[in-house]
Amino acid sequence: TNFADLGLSPPLVSTCRKLGFHRPSAVQRAVIPQILKPLNNESSHLLTLAETGSGKTAAFALPLLHILSSDPYGIFALILTPTRELAKQIQQQILAIGSGSGWKIECALVIGGEDLTKQSLELSRQPNFVVATPGRCAELCRDGLTGGGLYRPNFRKVKFVILDEADRLLSAKSGFERDVAECLLQSTTTVSRNADGTKQRRVRRGVCRTLLFSATMTRSLKSLEEMAGAGVGRLPL
Ligand code: AMP
Repeated sequence: TNFADLGLSPPLVSTCRKLGFHRPSAVQRAVIPQILKPLNNESSHLLTLAETGSGKTAAFALPLLHILSSDPYGIFALILTPTRELAKQIQQQILAIGSGSGWKIECALVIGGEDLTKQSLELSRQPNFVVATPGRCAELCRDGLTGGGLYRPNFRKVKFVILDEADRLLSAKSGFERDVAECLLQSTTTVSRNADGTKQRRVRRGVCRTLLFSATMTRSLKSLEEMAGAGVGRLPL
């Protein structure tokens, strides 16, 4: 199997060659065709067991860029990852694949320890990708409008949410659960009005896909169920 067999467009196939990706890794062979499949309700969430070093970043970055090239509108994908360092690496890989293919991709980094106002401004320009650590992303979602004139990120058009190292993001020990839930709520649900004027939050079913990558799965599955109970909407896996 080569990258073209997986359904990627010619510019991306030649970028893979330029980056020295000669053959798709096992994770890429499994995941790329799944992400490229048209969305239906049954396939809206995908869970993949993959370690760092398995090529998992390119496994989502390649098909996302393929789809983005035909649908460049609003923030397209939100990628959550547990550390600033991982966020930077993911951003670099998305930009490398994008520029290798001759596309000008906007990919904002939303991480702790760096200027909040600058990140909020960057988000207001609706970049194609947002790579974020959960704490900072949730902070902007919560305090966006009240925190000294900051913009609240608009995730209502997000088509893909990626939970990278989902086991770490969702483990009780990491303390990220609440922040991850807040980010998911903003991107996978919308608020609409009922006929009687009351507001209701609904899952954007069939519009937004959640892709989970995890080294181990057992513990985080439980957290995922708990988050679903907290109003994120059931994530069928
Ligand atoms: P990751 O698992 O995403 O952390 O990727 C580990 C490293 O493998 C990254 O530096 C990628 O540039 C590289 N890589 C990803 N896919 C391939 C591939 N198919 N062939 C060779 N290297 C790859």
